[in-house]
Amino acid sequence: MIALFGGTFNPVHEGHISLALEVKDAFNFESIEFLPSYISVHRDTPRVSAEFRKHLVELALEPYPCLKLNSCEIDRHGPSYAIDTVEFMTDKYPQQSICWLMGADSFNSFLSWKNPQEILQKANLIVCTRPDIEIDSNIFPSLYLKSNESLDDFNSGRIVFHEMQPNSCSSTKIRQLLKQQLSVSGCLPQPVLEFIHTNNLYKT
Ligand code: ATP
Repeated sequence: MIALFGGTFNPVHEGHISLALEVKDAFNFESIEFLPSYISVHRDTPRVSAEFRKHLVELALEPYPCLKLNSCEIDRHGPSYAIDTVEFMTDKYPQQSICWLMGADSFNSFLSWKNPQEILQKANLIVCTRPDIEIDSNIFPSLYLKSNESLDDFNSGRIVFHEMQPNSCSSTKIRQLLKQQLSVSGCLPQPVLEFIHTNNLYKT
C-alpha cells in the first residue's frame, strides 16, 4: 500500500511530521510520501514558490528515511487535483493500492474536491483528528471502516479515522508569527527555520 500525504506545506511543520509518523506506525506503512501541491485548488496561491516549499519539505524529511518527498504534483504544474495524482500513481504502480492521508479540516471540505467519489473508488482515506476541528460525519458515512474490518483488506473505498496526539501547529499561524517576527518555537524543524530566515521567506 502506498501512503500519500498531500498538502500546500506552506510551510511544512511539526504537525505534518507527527501526522505522518503516527500514521506510519498505526497502519504499518513502510513509508509515507509527502506531496507538495503546485497550485492548491482550495486556497489562495502561496506567495512562496512551489520550489521553495518543496525544498522545505526535503529539509524537514531528511532525518526520517521513512518519510519521502514525491514531487509529482509540482512536476505536473497546473492545479493539483488529488484525483489526478491518485490516477498517476495507480497507473505507475498498478499492483499497489493507495491510501490518501489528510487532517480533519481537509476531510470536512472533501465533497468540494474534484471527483471525490472517484478518489474513493481508487483509494482509501485516512483522516487524522486536529485540535478544535469536529469531523463532519455526513461525508460518505457508509464507507467508514467498521470495527470488525481491517484496512489491509480494502484496496479502496474505505475511510478510517486516526486519533492523533493533538498538535496545534498550523501553516497559517506560522506564517502570521513569522511575519510579525515572533517565535515559532516547537513548530518548525531547525533546518526549515534557518532556510526561511536565510532566504527571507514569509516576511511579508
Ligand atoms: P493551514 O494552517 O494554512 O490550514 P495546514 O497547517 O493545514 O495549513 P496544509 O499543508 O494545508 O497545512 O496541511 C496538509 C494536511 O495536513 C491537511 O490535510 C491538514 O489537515 C493536515 N494537518 C496540518 N496540520 C495538522 C495538525 N496540526 N494536525 C492534524 N492534521 C494537520
